[in-house]
Amino acid sequence: MKIHNTLTRKTEEFVPIEKNKIKMYVCGPTVYDYMHIGNARPLVVFDTFRRYVRYRGYDITYVVNFTDVDDKIIKKSIEENISTKEVTDRYIAAFMEDANDLNLDEANTIHPRATEVMDDIIEFVSELIKKGAAYEADGDVYFRVEKANNYGKLSGKNVEDLVHGASNRLDNKEASKKESPVDFALWKKTKIDGEVSWDSPWGAGRPGWHIECSTMNKKILGETIDIHAGGEDLEFPHHENEIAQSETLNEKTFANYWMHNGMIQVDGTKMSKSLGNFFTLHDIKKEYDLMVIRFWLLTTNYRQPINFTREIIEGAKNSLDRINNAVFRLEDLVENASENELFDDEQNLLNELIDFENKFIEVMDDDLNTADAITVLFELVKFANTKVSSENSKKLIKSVLDKILELEEVLGIENRQKVNAEVDEAKILDFIEQRNAAKKEKDFAKADAIRDQLKEMGVAIKDTREGVKWELI
Ligand SMILES: [Zn+2]
Repeated sequence: MKIHNTLTRKTEEFVPIEKNKIKMYVCGPTVYDYMHIGNARPLVVFDTFRRYVRYRGYDITYVVNFTDVDDKIIKKSIEENISTKEVTDRYIAAFMEDANDLNLDEANTIHPRATEVMDDIIEFVSELIKKGAAYEADGDVYFRVEKANNYGKLSGKNVEDLVHGASNRLDNKEASKKESPVDFALWKKTKIDGEVSWDSPWGAGRPGWHIECSTMNKKILGETIDIHAGGEDLEFPHHENEIAQSETLNEKTFANYWMHNGMIQVDGTKMSKSLGNFFTLHDIKKEYDLMVIRFWLLTTNYRQPINFTREIIEGAKNSLDRINNAVFRLEDLVENASENELFDDEQNLLNELIDFENKFIEVMDDDLNTADAITVLFELVKFANTKVSSENSKKLIKSVLDKILELEEVLGIENRQKVNAEVDEAKILDFIEQRNAAKKEKDFAKADAIRDQLKEMGVAIKDTREGVKWELI
């Protein structure tokens, strides 16, 4: 299996530290708001990577952290007059709902929170000071970048250029505390009374963002991990600084492979709150099942930018419906097939299934090419639609169905909504009208009977303030 390693800028054969085992850390969200589609991309991409390596026989330990102490979280807690924990608990709960809808394998994900490892963070910073790689300045602690070996090796940046760039940006107060303008904060002194803080040898304060990830990595996965991953916007400074801290303290390679996903564009431009083209999963869910979002995110190679437009999402929904319909059709065929044993002329069809699987593995082995993997899945769906019918044996139909489900499982795709071609919208609306009339006449038995009749057609109705809504079940 090959993966593109940002550290070497090459696609390399993946070699784990320990045979058949993978230790992987993905930088997770700062939990002060609902997740947006930009947050969803690394979660979906690396969840798919995790599913795939499991399929290939690896035992993977998979960590996605929550950054639960941060300026934005503090700001929100002040605005709403609640504790920072209330803010983060609320958005972690919302994260879990979205994660479930995106079919992320939460049961097998470790989610550390920065605030749960505060003692370890303080110890990490103290050790760096002892080594001469960090210094305290008026209650803040900074990392001494000149003490790091090869600073800039991940992002390809040069320290002298960074010094030049940074000295233009710093305000005087911050600059006077730092020995060098590129030094970065490990610990930040509490500035506002009542702000959430932790006691430390340097007074009340809270950790910087980078040190949180270095500490959680070390505590849960150890000093050297196989893969560190995240969005490409984290390459610098976040990941560069994680490497500097961890490798300076541990004197070992921090992560052997670095994987970064590309960014999301909306209608071809960068997504940002200030441009107003910002989409949360919470809002998207009102219109689309998040399985459509998962599917869409996998239709492009994870390192490329991916474009979000209504037409593209609508297209993804239609593609997903095609797969769903093929699966539901096969399920019906299996149920109604009577002949259990394989017919003579079906053996070559079974062989073709192996070809689909091999092709799937070939493209996924090539740096997780999910775009081509979905193409293989569509070829398999076409094969099912054109070569499998009620004339086939149960064994053959079931083998084709199982192969589609197996590949879907690797991609994390679930067949959620049964699209019933038999359903006639006009007929449904007619029924709803009859039920409304029955209710008006207080003939509740008749109204209930109509509801049951709709249910038999696979339609659920709901009485809302805006009137009766219906959906397929
Ligand atoms: Zn991180």
